[in-house]
Amino acid sequence: MSDTLVDYDEILTRYEPVIGLETHVELGTASKMFCGCATTFGAEPNTQTCPVCLGLPGSLPVANAAAIEATIRIGLALGCRIASWCRFARKNYFYPDIPKGFQTSQYDEPLCTAGHLDVEVDGETHRVEIERVHLEEDTGKNLHVGGATGRIHGASHSLVDFNRAGIPLVEIVTRPIPGTGAKAPEVARAYVSELRDIIQTLGASDVRMEQGSLRCDVNTSLAPVGSLEWGTRTETKNVNSLRSVERAVRYEMRRQAAVLDAAGRVLQETRHFHEDTGSTSPGRSKEEATDYRYFPEPDLVPVAPDAEWVEKLAAELPELPVARRARLQQEWGLSATEMAWLVNAGALGLVDATVAAGATPADARKWWLGELARRANDAGVELSELAVTPRQVAELTRLVAEGTINDQLARQALDGVLAGEGDPAQVVEARGLAVLGESDELVAAVEAAIAGAPDVVAKVQGGKVQALGALVGAVMKATRGKADAATVKRMLEERVVGG
Ligand SMILES: [Zn+2]
Repeated sequence: MSDTLVDYDEILTRYEPVIGLETHVELGTASKMFCGCATTFGAEPNTQTCPVCLGLPGSLPVANAAAIEATIRIGLALGCRIASWCRFARKNYFYPDIPKGFQTSQYDEPLCTAGHLDVEVDGETHRVEIERVHLEEDTGKNLHVGGATGRIHGASHSLVDFNRAGIPLVEIVTRPIPGTGAKAPEVARAYVSELRDIIQTLGASDVRMEQGSLRCDVNTSLAPVGSLEWGTRTETKNVNSLRSVERAVRYEMRRQAAVLDAAGRVLQETRHFHEDTGSTSPGRSKEEATDYRYFPEPDLVPVAPDAEWVEKLAAELPELPVARRARLQQEWGLSATEMAWLVNAGALGLVDATVAAGATPADARKWWLGELARRANDAGVELSELAVTPRQVAELTRLVAEGTINDQLARQALDGVLAGEGDPAQVVEARGLAVLGESDELVAAVEAAIAGAPDVVAKVQGGKVQALGALVGAVMKATRGKADAATVKRMLEERVVGG
């Protein structure tokens, strides 16, 4: 089934998008939300379970204090109001991956409310209002076996892994975000990116989208330009990369515009995003809150954070990404545009760490945004996924600054580092990459170049000094780039033009 799509540039002539994001973050606590089970990712299925997280009769939950603290810190970093008293609630629904027949969540009494997060896209700031940040537990994981796709269709049977059931999950819900126009997909992406950076800075989660510790549901709706009411929204579930967030919004805008153009009605439903095609397909029609028959959880005491404790947590928040960017921009003397490049390339933390390891800011930027960005791009990976550390990049820049290697040799040294041959100095040693000094080998190469090109020598001696470049090139080639060009030029001049 393929959807009719409207050209993206055309949509905005007729419709205004409104987006909204619900982000689930698995907290990095050592134990689960309501029991003492471990939370290690990738353990053997069903080895991290107990009567509480399996929902066995008679078991009683106890709330994880570290998870409550982490949620309050996230709320504080987003400028939220922290409840002085709130409760957990049961969200009732039946699904094989929730053993209790309900999920312990928060409903009308969330821990944090009314915050905001400013995100920047192309130099423009968009304020995203945060409606609520609440705490709940994750579900288990269904595994559909026997089919080609891992989806339930075509599977012969399904298995459930309850290791994830009960891991603390923070849900961060934005208010609807109007007024983003054509930038809606980028604002959605920038929001998730900024939120991820904040949570990482807080150390509350490893926020790995590919492992599902940060998952996004993306709401999108369109309304005719000038309309006083917003359109019907769809909710695209579990979008698991920043790029996919942007693509999911873009796709839904194009699809919904076509539905509305044909005088159709956009259905309020959840949709699935498909990485391979960048498209969405219908899931279930969306439940209303009343379908879940929420009621306060009778087995847990209310959460009543002490005001002094909350103030202390607020005072102890680390430097947040926006403040850090402002500080580094000033320290490194960058323009706003240069800073934006660095951030968009995902290089800010890497450059900072490289500078901390001893490189100059200019050198660190040059390597991460130049050679390393090119290699990451060629390999189709993020900069941070390259097999080179900031410390190794700093060492590379030091070897260049000391004159042990030149830029060309440094690129070869980098080949070795990326191939797992060790640190730059080791690779330089093992591959024999050091720049040749005025050694016998270099003298021989210079003299061979002169002997091999009497016509060029004649030209230079006849006054065409720039012809010397051909000889420099010949020496560089003969020494496989290991010579220092300035030294070679000087040695040639001494011999051809006369010192
Ligand atoms: Zn357990």
